[in-house]
Amino acid sequence: MPRLIFLGAPGAGKGTQAQELASALHIPHISTGDLLRQAVAAQTELGLQAQSFMDKGELVPDQLVLDMIRDRIHQSDCQTGWILDGFPRNVAQAGDLDGLLEEIQQNCDRVINLDVPDDVIVIRLLARGRADDTEDVIRRRLQVYHEKTSPLIAFYRDRQKLAVVNGNQEINLVMSDLKSAINT
Ligand code: AMP
Repeated sequence: MPRLIFLGAPGAGKGTQAQELASALHIPHISTGDLLRQAVAAQTELGLQAQSFMDKGELVPDQLVLDMIRDRIHQSDCQTGWILDGFPRNVAQAGDLDGLLEEIQQNCDRVINLDVPDDVIVIRLLARGRADDTEDVIRRRLQVYHEKTSPLIAFYRDRQKLAVVNGNQEINLVMSDLKSAINT
């Protein structure tokens, strides 16, 4: 079973597509955004530390996210495959992930960049209405994406791991393109 990373701007449809692909492949969908939102809702120590960053559209500090991912990926359901959604989010986290995968002697097979133009992203995010989807926060999250996350596209392209999928098309077409991307 594959080990996949999903990249893409907030609102690119990563969460939906990663979830659907994970259940089709019977592997866990690991979304750092979902895990962090659960921690915030449960008011755990992690949640309390993460909340103010999330409310502003900033990245939560790397170490908090890395500890969370380390715990999750060590669980038994992750031994045969996984989809990481929302992690890594910057080059430092990509380095952390390399170290973590080496520790557990696993490898990432493919990195999918779900590509959607910025103007479409803004319209989608405004329509979504999540708690952190106010216009200022959306603008900041997009800025953070361009500054910190989008360099990962070149990072994984250089390593010959990258597949680009057009996320700006009918949802079933996105899924079939995704399936062909992971099989090539
Ligand atoms: P998402 O659901 O992926 O859009 O994430 C929602 C928010 O959670 C982001 O705006 C960040 O504040 C935080 N977050 C999610 N994943 C990460 C990560 N890998 N590193 C730092 N912050 C993250």
